[in-house]
Amino acid sequence: MEIKRMKNWQPLEKRPFRYKKVAMQFFCPLCRTERAITTGHRLSILNYAQIILLTGLVTALSFPWAGFKGLAAFFPIWLGFESVRRMLFSKEVPCPHCGFDASWYKRDVKVARKRVEEFWAEQQGHIEPISTQEPNLEAAVE
Ligand SMILES: [Zn+2]
Repeated sequence: MEIKRMKNWQPLEKRPFRYKKVAMQFFCPLCRTERAITTGHRLSILNYAQIILLTGLVTALSFPWAGFKGLAAFFPIWLGFESVRRMLFSKEVPCPHCGFDASWYKRDVKVARKRVEEFWAEQQGHIEPISTQEPNLEAAVE
């Protein structure tokens, strides 16, 4: 990578914000910030419960004319949940500090590189001098 690092580069976060549920925890391979992702790889049991409830509702509403065919609504509802989960997940993956996107890195390294370059090009506009003070993480959570 052709990224010039600032002198005395410090990760912006020593530890991730206190997420309630952490599905994945790792260090950003590019800037070494500790990262946490809250969206899981799979739908949670709660999600499945919601899908079943929704299917039940659709089946009940369409029962007078569709009968138990309404149960087929399970599949589109399930797909809907899956795609929302995927969208949330891919939104969480890119590092907020250097733009490194691990999911793109797996699929296409060139795209991942371009993403990081774009991220830094955008940063050029509003770079502020790094303060020597420890960022107040507790306040940021609020
Ligand atoms: Zn990073």
